[in-house]
Amino acid sequence: MRPSENVRDTWAEVDLSCISRNVRAIKSRLPAATEFMAVVKAGGYGHGDIQSAHTAVQSGADSLAVAYLSEAIQLRRQGITVPILVLTPIQPQDVPMAIKHRIQLTVTSAQWFEQAMAYRNIYPKLKLIVHVKFDSGLGRIGIREKEEWEAMVPWLKQADVEVEGAYTHFATAGSTDTRYLEQQLKNFDKMKGWIDQSGVDIRHYHCANSAIALRYPELAMDKVRVGAAMYGFYSKELVPDLELEPALSLHSRLIHVKRVSEGQSIGYDNSYQTSEAEWIGTVPIGYADGWSQVFQSSEMLIGGQRATVVGKIGMDQLMIRLPQHYPVNTQVTIIGKQGNDQITCAQLAASIDGVPQEISTALSARIMRINKGEEIINYEQHPIALC
Ligand SMILES: *Cc1c(COP(=O)(O)O)cnc(C)c1O
Repeated sequence: MRPSENVRDTWAEVDLSCISRNVRAIKSRLPAATEFMAVVKAGGYGHGDIQSAHTAVQSGADSLAVAYLSEAIQLRRQGITVPILVLTPIQPQDVPMAIKHRIQLTVTSAQWFEQAMAYRNIYPKLKLIVHVKFDSGLGRIGIREKEEWEAMVPWLKQADVEVEGAYTHFATAGSTDTRYLEQQLKNFDKMKGWIDQSGVDIRHYHCANSAIALRYPELAMDKVRVGAAMYGFYSKELVPDLELEPALSLHSRLIHVKRVSEGQSIGYDNSYQTSEAEWIGTVPIGYADGWSQVFQSSEMLIGGQRATVVGKIGMDQLMIRLPQHYPVNTQVTIIGKQGNDQITCAQLAASIDGVPQEISTALSARIMRINKGEEIINYEQHPIALC
């Protein structure tokens, strides 16, 4: 959306140079031959899919992954030419669309091939490129039993099918207890044995998401699938020898400021009572922006100080208790740095027992994204690029 169509006092700023440095830093820890698949699903984890994709490729990513076919096609339509893998099974009738756009598919069953067969020869000169997904223990999608694999083998050996990869995904990649991870690795090894016996030629094995790629580069295999870490989301405790930078910050401005006496109610359902005379500021962001009610009582930065969200968060607006008077239009930083203080998606996620990308991906389309350095005018005063 052009910024001028989205005039708004709340905006997310994406620093693509952070994504670039993060990709390079992650790559430098991996074996040189390991390919880097940049995961840009869900609009690049809320950072913008096309911008994230271009930046990752320019910084050394070999290929991309998204969750759904629609996301892959959107990238192709915007000129992305590197290989793209769709991580979720697609409908058999959508196979011609995938082939036409040279999109690689995740396959998990012989029945799917049986149904897809009817559609795939619309483009006889183009191969159907697939990665076979194995469920080694996450319990989500993929082949679990040897019989399922064997039923798929004849399809994989068809002349117009190319098996680009075989992969699995771990359930406990971010956990300090590695026992289940080891069990999954053993299971995947056993599954590789089935593949070897069948004579199907697999070009690339892959299993590592961000946490595995950063913690255990020796498990990187032929390719890593890195999402979270390239946006700067990772566990510093688990990977202390690495410095990744969060690429996204979120800002707004006070739209209303008032002095309220002791014992006044603020917010829906009288959810907050002032305990003394207080300065209350109103910030134009709410749950329709992806700023969920679970963030009631969280903090924001204003003038380099912390301000607590008071009362229930509404659909479009919320209130904060100001540490002192600030005028209307003062910038409020919801995610990011002010002075020496910083609020990160990781901190917010920890407070709701979630993960950082849950917060960045929830930010709705109503929040304008600005790429740092591409502002046309001084957005401290006017975040709206006038074009
Ligand atoms: C989303 C996803 C990834 C990326 O995981 P991160 O932890 O964000 O790096 C990798 N593999 C699969 C199958 C995924 O669905």
